[in-house]
Amino acid sequence: MQVNTAIVNKIIRFSSVDGPGNRTVVFLQGCNFNCRYCHNPETIGACRQCGACIPYCKTNAITLVDGKILYDRDRCVNCDECFHHCPHGSSPKTERMTPEEVFEEVKKNMPYIRGITISGGECTLWRDFLVELLTLAKNVGLSTMLDSNGTYDFSKDKELMAVVDAVMLDVKAFDRSEHEKVTGIHNDMVLSNLRYLAECDKLFEVRTVAVPELFDTKHTVYETSRLLHEVGKQEGIRYKLIKYRPIGVREEYRSYETPTEEYMNQLRDIAYNNGMKDIVII
Ligand code: SF4
Ligand code: SF4
Repeated sequence: MQVNTAIVNKIIRFSSVDGPGNRTVVFLQGCNFNCRYCHNPETIGACRQCGACIPYCKTNAITLVDGKILYDRDRCVNCDECFHHCPHGSSPKTERMTPEEVFEEVKKNMPYIRGITISGGECTLWRDFLVELLTLAKNVGLSTMLDSNGTYDFSKDKELMAVVDAVMLDVKAFDRSEHEKVTGIHNDMVLSNLRYLAECDKLFEVRTVAVPELFDTKHTVYETSRLLHEVGKQEGIRYKLIKYRPIGVREEYRSYETPTEEYMNQLRDIAYNNGMKDIVII
């Protein structure tokens, strides 16, 4: 029988910004988007075990043994030079883990956490792993959240949805071609998930990163909040409006301006006028 595993980029023991209450957040490696403003681009690609990052590690935390990258967490000083020099948008600082192994890490944080959030990369690329890990979490009374780019058809997966309390969904751009420009992929499934998750009360939060030079952010905020109003769910769902910041962004996409406070307030007013009550600007 094949062992169910996922490549884990990192586990943050305590976070208060990834869903309700204090939560452990698990970041899984790999994404099917290639967002221009991604501030964790090292989570996008799979490591090709090429070894090109090894010379940049001054503490010998990375070695290539029998064609496989070995990462020594104890030697690592988190300078991040390795993934800044990876030509494949990946990181050697990952670990293939079973749901049980991840859950052992989660358990160490109980009783100080209310739940777990699985993020990425795009966590739904590891669907079977999610079902197992979230089942383990639910069995001990933890709440379960996903942070997703919305490309997975949640409406067709009852088994997964039975163990997911709610999703935090990115709406990177509402217009189809603008979404393609920002991420490399159109947004048909994202918008269908926006509606589906709102209607079945499994949408905790919608997130849009404001990059007015890249796409019409006001149009996206208007249409997203209007759709939530249309399905009558504008009040219980948070809209998080995130200022683009160049931190961590790849060199070639670092030139966008960070939106002003005034611009962000205009976005908030647009969402508010469409009935959204819980609007957060960060
Ligand atoms: S992280 Fe990048 S550079 Fe390092 S081994 Fe993997 S693919 Fe190669
Ligand atoms: S982050 Fe860690 S593994 Fe990467 S180069 Fe720095 S010390 Fe080495």
